[in-house]
Amino acid sequence: MKKKADNTIGTLPPEKTEKVLEGLAKQHPDARPELDFTNPYELLIATILSAQCTDKQVNKVTPALFSAYPDPASMAKAEPEDIEPYIHSCGFFRSKAKNIVMACRDIVSQHGEQVPENREALESLAGVGRKTANVVLSNAFGVPAIAVDTHVFRVSNRIGLACAKNVEETERQLMANIPEDKWSIAHHWLIFHGRRVCSAQRPKCGECMISELCLFNNKDRGDTDELCR
Ligand code: SF4
Repeated sequence: MKKKADNTIGTLPPEKTEKVLEGLAKQHPDARPELDFTNPYELLIATILSAQCTDKQVNKVTPALFSAYPDPASMAKAEPEDIEPYIHSCGFFRSKAKNIVMACRDIVSQHGEQVPENREALESLAGVGRKTANVVLSNAFGVPAIAVDTHVFRVSNRIGLACAKNVEETERQLMANIPEDKWSIAHHWLIFHGRRVCSAQRPKCGECMISELCLFNNKDRGDTDELCR
């Protein structure tokens, strides 16, 4: 079988990608951000807290945290020890508390007390990497982006939306293979699919609306010369 361009080796052709996206939309019509937030500041803090922690747990602690520290200015005046009691159930609470306070101090001193709307400035904040920046850009500011977490990485490489060894390459391939106006919602579809259907250990292929298209499920059919996961 002739290989496609490097960035799409082992991935589905565009017409099947379109059908996969339709199937994911049908299976997860309720796909949306699961972190509770009302503004970019709250989303940024919630996303920092969500590392190695469930969204559900983060949503339990943020109401009290945001009530005590409603904006970057109030958070910037706190010491990390002040906020540790609010977030201790989220794991890695000492480093998260430090990052949150440091990030807010930078937001106050360098960005006019507003969460910056561009990637470079976001990624310069403590505790903010590319994935967190993508979540904030996409969900708080409406900037098309695909945040690749463990679900997005696993599911997209199983389906054949990507064929990559790491999250950076997966993000690049997803951006190449998915229309830009669907980047943000596709991110949510893939997360919901990974949580509800395509789990790491036991994917429920019998309940999956895209099982006919998925390369992982059809690995014996010879649709591809290189299966990723
Ligand atoms: S067919 Fe199976 S492996 Fe493929 S996306 Fe669906 S649940 Fe995951």
